[in-house]
Amino acid sequence: MTFTGQQQPYTGRFAPSPSGPLHFGSLVTALGSFLDARFHKGQWLVRMEDLDPPREQAGAADEILHCLEAHQLFWDGPVLYQSHRHDAYEKCLDFLRSRDWIYACDCSRQELHLTQGIYQGRCRNRQADVQFPCAWRLKLYDLPDHTSSEIQIFDDLIQGQQIQDLRTAAGDQILKRRDGFYAYQLAVVLDDIEQQITHVIRGRDLLDVTARQVFFFNLLKANTPQFGHLPLAIMPNGQKLSKQNKAPGINPENANQNIWQALHFLGQNPPAELKHQALNQLLDWAISNWQLSRIPIRDQVV
Ligand code: GLU
Repeated sequence: MTFTGQQQPYTGRFAPSPSGPLHFGSLVTALGSFLDARFHKGQWLVRMEDLDPPREQAGAADEILHCLEAHQLFWDGPVLYQSHRHDAYEKCLDFLRSRDWIYACDCSRQELHLTQGIYQGRCRNRQADVQFPCAWRLKLYDLPDHTSSEIQIFDDLIQGQQIQDLRTAAGDQILKRRDGFYAYQLAVVLDDIEQQITHVIRGRDLLDVTARQVFFFNLLKANTPQFGHLPLAIMPNGQKLSKQNKAPGINPENANQNIWQALHFLGQNPPAELKHQALNQLLDWAISNWQLSRIPIRDQVV
């Protein structure tokens, strides 16, 4: 078992949203996080991010799990479903409210007062009427009874050092939405804490929101995982392969070929003679030869 600086055993995770089947881009993320965990002789957990029922597809969660199994990406322990975690999320909101670190926001779309997409804090100093639907926002700067810098710096294992000014690049974050659903930014951090995640290997589309997550881990006095952001699989028109863009699901019957392609995508270059070997042999090779430094930084067209 490998230990991190905080003497915690390596624990990684894959956290799909069940809004559609697993496509090539999500297979790359699953494989990257799996191989990094197994290379470090760590645990690899799966968390189903089923927070947003209107965007979910019936049966997608099971389909994703079957597809992982078909690719022999076997996870440790039970799957954690975010839909079972509402009490924990509510308890955290109560705590944050008691510190005056979150506030109710009743801004309508027209009133959001965004500058370059960043919320300007209109509701920070007014008492929104919580009788009506309100979102709850976390203050990311000038927090009462808390000294924290709004400049966040972290070292990404793949993308290198990242610096972000939360005041100008993020703005106060919604933790609970106006429609009553919990927000990804709340659930992801609380669940990474709950599952004692030490390493988050995921797609580069989340690089930009990582600094605010690091801030939130620190605010909750929790251990912050190490982050590594993988390049994205993009289409020739530059769009990310994603469920929203209706990326086709991968065929689990071609598991060998899919893993082979995903290894190439990740710069791991498996030897040609493994191409027609059993999948477990290919994966064994990939685990023992895993090198984070070979992963390309930039997105790639597939
Ligand atoms: N559920 C997110 C997605 O499917 C991933 C979240 C994360 O890895 O932090 O894009």
